Amino acid sequence: MSSFPQYRPRRLRRTAALRNLVRETHLSAAQLVLPVFVRDGKKLRRAVGSMPGVNQTSVDEMLRDAEAAAKAGVGGIILFGVPEKKDATGTAAWDDKGAVQTAVRALKKEIPDLVVITDVCMCEYTDHGHCGILKDGDVDNDPTLELLSRAALSHARAGADIVAPSDMMDGRVQAIRSALDDKGHSGVSILSYAAKYASAYYGPFREAAESAPQSSDRRGYQMDPGNAQEAMREVVCDIQEGADAVMVKPAGPYLDIISRVKAETGYPVAAYQVSGEYAMICAAADRGWIEKDRVMMESLLGIRRAGADVIVTYFATEAARQL
Ligand SMILES: [Zn+2]
Repeated sequence: MSSFPQYRPRRLRRTAALRNLVRETHLSAAQLVLPVFVRDGKKLRRAVGSMPGVNQTSVDEMLRDAEAAAKAGVGGIILFGVPEKKDATGTAAWDDKGAVQTAVRALKKEIPDLVVITDVCMCEYTDHGHCGILKDGDVDNDPTLELLSRAALSHARAGADIVAPSDMMDGRVQAIRSALDDKGHSGVSILSYAAKYASAYYGPFREAAESAPQSSDRRGYQMDPGNAQEAMREVVCDIQEGADAVMVKPAGPYLDIISRVKAETGYPVAAYQVSGEYAMICAAADRGWIEKDRVMMESLLGIRRAGADVIVTYFATEAARQL
């Protein structure tokens, strides 16, 4: 490789046209997925304090947000439910008349081309806020699999394109895959939250989804932020169990994991730019410390450059409008 004075990297940076010509990474609106929080009711729009611009909405209001997203070119939407009633086993998670299931049906009817993904977990539905059922204060893995499968099945019945288990129980992808196949939903995809870290960046989400654990924390099932090899084992496990695509969450602080997962598996990789990443950008921009639009786009471009095919982000609609 030649070097200075023969090689002058600045030559190709001289004009916008030149820079565009040789740009290596491109973001497209179709790769963005908007997370939404749905609850029962009508004309309901409740702001989430720690996430400016993000609301809990009833299904009718969610449709308005989804329409705006689709119009901007956003590729998909991921639904989280905020049930009125919670209990120890999270029974509302597989209620065919629940907010998520109702939202899926409405979306497939009104905006059929928008990909509908449902988050599959128990933490929004259990009164203790853990991602599985408890036994002696500890999340009990194997009995939770049956409940997750029920939730995934009800989402599939409603018409979800993709179900996305985020609980981090061992064996859940296989359990959900066989439950779906048994009931004739072999065409429904599974996007597993394969490398989901026990992250402090989830704080604002827990307000949005009303899913903060009432006791202890989630370090007993989510991954230790120090581990990368383990992330690869989790990913390989989920792919062997039948995951069609895998997720890394959070995104920004885990770009090395995104990059490795993409390079080592070749599978479609999604990355979740989580609530804390979003809130930090909004807060700093609000104080005039950073330029919001540029930081937003750069944060997404970085995630894409690391290897993510799909980016779940609260900025989806806003970013899509700029693309
Ligand atoms: Zn959960």
